[in-house]
Amino acid sequence: MSTDFQQSLRGKRVVVVGLAQTGIAVARFCHRHGASVIVTDGKPAAQLGERMAQLDDVPVQWQLGGHDLASFTGADLVVMSPGVPTLPEMVAARAAGVEVIAEIELAYRCLHPGAQLLAITGTNGKSTTTALTGALCSASGRPTFCGGNLGNMPMIDAVDHPANVDGGLVVVEVAAFMLENCTSFAPTTGVLTNITPDHLDRFGTIDHYAAMKGRLWDFQRADQLAIANAADPWVVREAVDLVPQLAWFDSRPGADVARGAFISADRKQLVLRGVPGAAAEERFPVDDLIIVGNHNLENAMGAYLGARACGVSVDAIRAGARSYRPLPHRMELVGDRDGLYFYDDSKGTNVASVAASVRGFPRPLVLIAGGVDKGGSYAPMLEALNGVCKGIVLIGAAAPLIRAACAEHGVTYPVIDAADMHAAVAAATELCGAGDAVVLSPACASYDMFKNFGHRGQVFREAVSAVGAKRLD
Ligand code: ADP
Repeated sequence: MSTDFQQSLRGKRVVVVGLAQTGIAVARFCHRHGASVIVTDGKPAAQLGERMAQLDDVPVQWQLGGHDLASFTGADLVVMSPGVPTLPEMVAARAAGVEVIAEIELAYRCLHPGAQLLAITGTNGKSTTTALTGALCSASGRPTFCGGNLGNMPMIDAVDHPANVDGGLVVVEVAAFMLENCTSFAPTTGVLTNITPDHLDRFGTIDHYAAMKGRLWDFQRADQLAIANAADPWVVREAVDLVPQLAWFDSRPGADVARGAFISADRKQLVLRGVPGAAAEERFPVDDLIIVGNHNLENAMGAYLGARACGVSVDAIRAGARSYRPLPHRMELVGDRDGLYFYDDSKGTNVASVAASVRGFPRPLVLIAGGVDKGGSYAPMLEALNGVCKGIVLIGAAAPLIRAACAEHGVTYPVIDAADMHAAVAAATELCGAGDAVVLSPACASYDMFKNFGHRGQVFREAVSAVGAKRLD
């Protein structure tokens, strides 16, 4: 079935802003539903050949190398791709009474009213929580879409997906800049993982950034569920005076929530309480999950709450959790040398994410860190390493800065320089014994030595093989 809004696209003039994966999918979708489509991008055609080719079979009008004001103000609808900044043409279009919306808003308006939408946002943990939620939902046997900001599946692709039916499950990761251009996006369950300073170049202040994250809940109805991290002060601030019902998750020792999730005193069970449609209390073994670290317990609580509130059974949640494997380069167990484990956390590209990965790590570890410095303090990372760290091996341009931070922090374990990733893995292995772990979680960008974080993780894996570890990826 198609919604009234979807049918109303017929004959409309739609401007699609941004020619990347999402813009291509939106242009195709709007054309298929009878709209006449203009695609515009600030980059010139010479730089966009490959992407234009993907729309070879769709009769779109191109406006590349800049934007045409009259097209915006004369449109019936303007659809923004994620990541496109606020343009003067958008402001003018709005002033002229034209609707300017995000791609996720367009997709939302085209969803079957009986499909359940599980949306996830936050500064860190979005992808993990989304992918885990997708695994839990899939295990239920109900048709499931999992995408959005995650992977290669923009949310608009959910509209023509088998999950867009009564009882279907649509799981999406959303970013703050997508929520900024939403006017009715109301998920059945909306998880906000955490809020720490990020993207301030785009949003100006953390208040504004936090408010944009909080929009996940702004349009929800009273029968829908907001899922909030009780341990995050910015999230708590956004959770005031909400229309939807509210479930908290709290990973702190001793936490005990009336509606939501917490971890049992022995840290062995994930406990759900008071979830709509579920038993008063339900307990899940933490051991079902291969992902480790307190932050992943938070991600899991968000995922379990969302899935359970959408009617995914306890058995399906347990089966989905057991089948879930970490996304590449996020604390991914990639090697084992006689009980010495190697973890690839190349996506740990900022101090906050490394701190989250290593805090409370269940075995002694040697950290490989360094690359291009991001300008912040390394203190939160070193503080999180207290008590679990046996040594740090430094690579890349930031090595002297991290070494200085270690000295200031008064670390007593060895801090070693390595010329490249192979030397780093060899040096880290030397410092370890059985039962320990070598963790690549660099707290830095990768481009001084690698193409991107994926390439950095790949070279790490090669180095792990080179020291004789059995590859587990
Ligand atoms: P995102 O999609 O928000 O970037 P990911 O799930 O890809 O998040 O995780 C990226 C990195 O952030 C991980 O490698 C991990 O170090 C860290 N991280 C994951 N979940 C959390 C969390 N809940 N809180 C803090 N840091 C996290």
